[in-house]
Amino acid sequence: MAKTALITGASRGIGAAIARRLAKDGFQIAVNCLDERNRDEQGLAVAEECRALGVQAECFIADVSSHEQCRQMVEAVKAQFGSLDALVNNAGITADGLMVRMKEDQYDKVIAVNQKSVFNMMKFAGALMMRQRSGRIVNISSVAGVFGNAGQVNYSASKAAIIGMTKTAAKELGPRGITVNAVAPGFIKSDMTDVLSDELKQKILAQISLGTFGEIEDVANAAAFLCSDQARYITGQVLVVNGGLMM
Ligand code: NAD
Repeated sequence: MAKTALITGASRGIGAAIARRLAKDGFQIAVNCLDERNRDEQGLAVAEECRALGVQAECFIADVSSHEQCRQMVEAVKAQFGSLDALVNNAGITADGLMVRMKEDQYDKVIAVNQKSVFNMMKFAGALMMRQRSGRIVNISSVAGVFGNAGQVNYSASKAAIIGMTKTAAKELGPRGITVNAVAPGFIKSDMTDVLSDELKQKILAQISLGTFGEIEDVANAAAFLCSDQARYITGQVLVVNGGLMM
């Protein structure tokens, strides 16, 4: 039976690249997307791209900051595909600002979408994988979670928390044959980084050993490796994909 992968926030960017890459590896794909204006259309297009690669794929609308919507989505994926073998927690947002000026809701929203979502999804998918006695979970963190980043106290808190949660889940789920790892990208070209000023981009570029920004496929390749059989003995780790931005 074909394995199934669920990727959160897969309507564009890194999540969409992971969906396409796992489809190439033969996974049936559950594309999670947020029902923002026009975003569902993008999610449907990603599912269509995966089907064109010869696997089953469907779009599942859910706001991953909602505990209940995550519960329903995991149930719907199981009903649709019969199993859930790989979960990639990719959905994320930024709401940058200096700490002393940051509004409370600006902080809370980023924590809810980036961090609580990982609890929501690992809880429900983890329970299903425990019954299956196998599974792969990959959580998308960030270099900001490892090294910090001025203007991102909310984002770096959420991404650092994901690393602690990854290690805890690896300990809890390991005895049932489930691996849990994190990928920490550096600067990857996507909608999220497009909004940064050219001046800031040049500053960051000057610090990258490989002298170029990352592509969404670079992160997808790392996530796909951690979802594969080749990574069966790797758990609780953080794989940094940053071209040497931080070492
Ligand atoms: P992006 O903005 O292009 O994509 C983010 C995706 O998350 C979108 O599909 C969006 O609809 C979805 N999303 C947002 N809120 C959601 C919610 N509540 N429920 C469900 N889906 C939701 O960004 P990206 O660059 O592709 O980032 C993907 C992940 O990689 C994020 O977790 C981000 O923090 C992380 N990351 C990105 C970079 C980078 O340089 N681009 C670096 C480090 C980490």
